[in-house]
Amino acid sequence: MIIDFAAGAVGVDLNADIVIIGSGIAGLVIAREMAASGKQVLVLESGDISKSLAADAAAKGLTHIIKPDGEVLQQDHYLHESRQFAFGGAANKWGGKCAIMDPVDFKARSYMPMSGWPVDYQTLVPHVEKACRDMQIPTLTKADDWARADFSINNRYNFESSIRTFTPLTGEDTGSDYDRFKRGIATRPNIRMLINATVKEIVTNRSGDKHIDYVCIESADGEQHQVSGTTFILAAGGLENVRLLLSSNRQFPQGLGNDHGLVGRYFCGHAIFRLPSSVPGRQAGLCLPLAKDSLLLKEYVNKDSSTPHKLFKLSENAQRRKKLPNGTITLERRLESDGQVFYPAFFMLEQQLTEQSYVSLLPPVNGHSALQLHWHFSRQDVINLQAMLALFDADLQKSELGYLDYVFDETALFKYMTLASHHMGTTRMSDQPDKGVVDQYCRLHGSDNLYIASTSVFCTSALANPTITLLALCHRICTHIKD
Ligand SMILES: Cc1cc2nc3c(=O)[nH]c(=O)nc-3n(C[C@H](O)[C@H](O)[C@H](O)COP(=O)(O)OP(=O)(O)OC[C@H]3O[C@@H](n4cnc5c(N)ncnc54)[C@H](O)[C@@H]3O)c2cc1C
Repeated sequence: MIIDFAAGAVGVDLNADIVIIGSGIAGLVIAREMAASGKQVLVLESGDISKSLAADAAAKGLTHIIKPDGEVLQQDHYLHESRQFAFGGAANKWGGKCAIMDPVDFKARSYMPMSGWPVDYQTLVPHVEKACRDMQIPTLTKADDWARADFSINNRYNFESSIRTFTPLTGEDTGSDYDRFKRGIATRPNIRMLINATVKEIVTNRSGDKHIDYVCIESADGEQHQVSGTTFILAAGGLENVRLLLSSNRQFPQGLGNDHGLVGRYFCGHAIFRLPSSVPGRQAGLCLPLAKDSLLLKEYVNKDSSTPHKLFKLSENAQRRKKLPNGTITLERRLESDGQVFYPAFFMLEQQLTEQSYVSLLPPVNGHSALQLHWHFSRQDVINLQAMLALFDADLQKSELGYLDYVFDETALFKYMTLASHHMGTTRMSDQPDKGVVDQYCRLHGSDNLYIASTSVFCTSALANPTITLLALCHRICTHIKD
């Protein structure tokens, strides 16, 4: 049942077994799973049934990209373009590209500060499989044979193939697949969805043990109520979770879960580089004689969302030998002229974590504090990107396939960068309360009844599009609550 809090809360039961803050894809999947196990579920959504000007305004904030030389690039559009405050959240406008993280992404790597998750790949596999079913895509954990098709460069040491596929669950228009998915969940008998209900504070009991008593909700015209429940799930997205924890400072002056100053710290995202090539006006890419082109290579072209495609990724072995983070090379098109084939490509490399990348709250204006994102790129990030490109070029040449035509000008690098809408790391997971905000079950350290369901719990960004891993974590949360 969908209830509009803007019309008042008279007669609405503001108590439930499971209270979920945020109706994005994470909140919805948890709502469905918990309702299926017989729980009464109440979802609190700040936005309206579809996007609204007021919600767009609330998503505005500041974004500072800090280059290795200290220069600051102001990219304020990023915060509102990369989110949507409405029923269904950011997935109303997402690309629907699905990928799984690699086993190495969960492991500690001496050359990657703060790497290593308290869960490993194998532990997540059954949950990833459920996430693939949710997204109506093939089981990505079983796609190895397809991904490792025989192709000369993949038989070498440094690069392997990886798959990206697309879910049909996209679109916010009435009748779109995602619209049907989200309404199908929100209208189940034991799920109540309150829209236009912004959670302002999460309130703990007075014993100091972070047991959540209730949350305060407010409508656009200032009407306030308390919502109580047995278990609370914070699923307000990778950035907005930070606001709620920092603003919940009644018992904990630094903010809830922020005893070690980690809430908002270690933000990580995904940056995409489309570099120039040696030919003026042409993007960098793979260049080879027509005679060397193959059908297999065409499987790597990121054509459209109706077909899966492969990309090249650094193998775990190469990462460890070369002390490099995970990295990928994606071919975008196939161009042919004068007996030559050219595949323009984009490049992504996992960034090193730093506490200099963080999200914080600006001082309030008219009662609203905007978010501020500082996203720092280190010199090592640049060195790593350059090393991966050189390695790929060397492999192409050794395999006598062709070469990577690119120009690497460090001073101009950030002109060619775009930012993916993936927000990770701000409430990171760790088994040690002084190193993370949540434990391996995504439960707030020190709390028995607050879970965080978001990419904000990711320990490292890896390079896979994050939503499949997010949904796997949501399923793991549900299993943990049910057990
Ligand atoms: C343009 C774009 C393209 C993308 N493409 C891809 C892709 O191809 N593949 C991929 O894996 N990922 C992609 N993503 C990222 C993906 O959309 C997110 O990972 C995912 O949707 C996050 O879901 P969520 O439920 O955690 O958070 P959100 O979708 O952000 O949902 C959070 C919800 O909480 C609500 N909320 C916030 N604060 C409060 C509050 N105080 N009280 C009540 N409610 C609140 C918000 O209104 C929102 O509805 C893309 C994102 C964008 C924007």
